[in-house]
Amino acid sequence: MEADFAVIGGGLVGLSVALGLLNAGQKVVVIDGAESDPKASRGNFGLIWLQGKGVSQPRYARWSKESADLWVGFARDLSDITGVDLGLRQEGGLDLHFSDDSLEFAISENEAIQAKLGADYPFEVLGPDALRSEEPEVGPKVAGAVLHPGDGHADPLALLTALAKAVSLKGGQILAGAPVVGVAPRDGGFSLTCEDGSQVRTARVVLAAGLGAIKLGPSLGFCAPLKPERGQVLITEKMPPLLRRPSLIARQVHAGGIQIGATNEDVGMSRSVTFEGVAKLAADAVDAYPALARAQLLRAWGALRVMSPDGLPIYQESDEFPGAFMVSCHSGVTLAAVHAMRLPSWILKQADAPDLGVFGDDRFAA
Ligand SMILES: Cc1cc2nc3c(=O)[nH]c(=O)nc-3n(C[C@H](O)[C@H](O)[C@H](O)COP(=O)(O)OP(=O)(O)OC[C@H]3O[C@@H](n4cnc5c(N)ncnc54)[C@H](O)[C@@H]3O)c2cc1C
Repeated sequence: MEADFAVIGGGLVGLSVALGLLNAGQKVVVIDGAESDPKASRGNFGLIWLQGKGVSQPRYARWSKESADLWVGFARDLSDITGVDLGLRQEGGLDLHFSDDSLEFAISENEAIQAKLGADYPFEVLGPDALRSEEPEVGPKVAGAVLHPGDGHADPLALLTALAKAVSLKGGQILAGAPVVGVAPRDGGFSLTCEDGSQVRTARVVLAAGLGAIKLGPSLGFCAPLKPERGQVLITEKMPPLLRRPSLIARQVHAGGIQIGATNEDVGMSRSVTFEGVAKLAADAVDAYPALARAQLLRAWGALRVMSPDGLPIYQESDEFPGAFMVSCHSGVTLAAVHAMRLPSWILKQADAPDLGVFGDDRFAA
């Protein structure tokens, strides 16, 4: 099989980039790994979130903002093509705090980002009364919140389904259950070997394999210093409309359940659910929204975030193997719109390519 681009990894990141490359007229094959691989895209929280992002790197704040701004059109186009409703609600998000100290710290971080982005980074601080008139179910233990109007949420599984469907409808090929075990430069392009022995010939390759890039990255000249971070998430039975806006503690999904999460745990590759994790998430959720004490929990799961050492995305063309690109991030829902609509022009070196220099994987070389 021959392609202009082989995208290794069929999660949110690989499929978003693949869709963008197809829209740019490229012949694309997506090669996805095994069912047993960790798949962040199947276990995430579904936020489109700007708040607090880019304290150490304003370019990240701008890139996230560009994506959030593109999301409405991105979701509309995807739904038009595929008929899948992404459940997008983008009417602001709340960062709730249980103490004045923690709220003050969040305000100082938001002010630091606003100092760099100005009017492009609006936010509002809500004291207890203002907060409860915006979000009536918030309980008395919450000291206040930061409201960012660009934040929102969507159904991440619907997004994944829609992306896969759109890639196929646009003529892309998806090879599922075909982990790539070898990549070698060949005749000015690359030859990829899958676990079942099949070969894919491609002019260029995009490594978007989530945590799978740890193993494959060095063979393409990337550092790929990624680490897993476990997040446990819970979902309740369907409830009547309760939460107006998503927060970092809970969001009401468009089918009605309240999704609660997520933990941040350094436990290697374990995706287990723990009693301590679930109990802490549930206790915080009830402290934030006391009405949740009545809710029945339906399900809990654990999934692994794909983390770089500084938490920023990685966009890098290999110095050693030009034509090989690495794409990785820990906010694949938020950044899906830029990955589909802006990143392809950087990969294709077009005149309107975004400047992504600060996100090079070479920043970890030392
Ligand atoms: C608990 C949790 C909550 C999160 N919440 C949010 C949120 O609210 N908002 C947000 O924006 N982001 C969130 N994220 C992050 C988001 O889910 C990830 O950024 C995104 O899913 C990463 O997508 P990916 O395609 O890089 O990785 P994955 O989804 O892990 O996909 C990688 C794919 O590569 C494949 N693969 C691996 N090795 C190979 C190989 N050798 N050959 C071929 N294929 C291979 C795997 O099989 C897999 O399908 C969350 C993540 C977690 C875990």
